[in-house]
Amino acid sequence: MRRLEARLALEARKPPPVRTRASVSAATVRTARPRPRCPGCTLELPRGRRGESCVWCGFMFAAVSRRASAPKTPRKPR
Ligand SMILES: [Zn+2]
Repeated sequence: MRRLEARLALEARKPPPVRTRASVSAATVRTARPRPRCPGCTLELPRGRRGESCVWCGFMFAAVSRRASAPKTPRKPR
C-alpha cells in the first residue's frame, strides 16, 4: 500500500501532460480570447473604446446586432 501511495504522490507531483499538438493549442489559445471585431472592416476594436460605431470605418454595430437578435423565419411548432 505504501508503494501505491508513493506512486500517487509522484503522479500528483508530475506536471500536466504536454500536448503534442503545440501548433493547434497555440491557435486555440489565440482564439480563446475573442476580441470584438468590426464586421465592416474586420479590424480589432480598441479596448474600452467600443461605441455605437467602429472607430476605424464608422460601421454601425446596431445594424448587425439587430439582425442577429431578430430571426428571419420564425419556426412554428407542430
Ligand atoms: Zn470598422
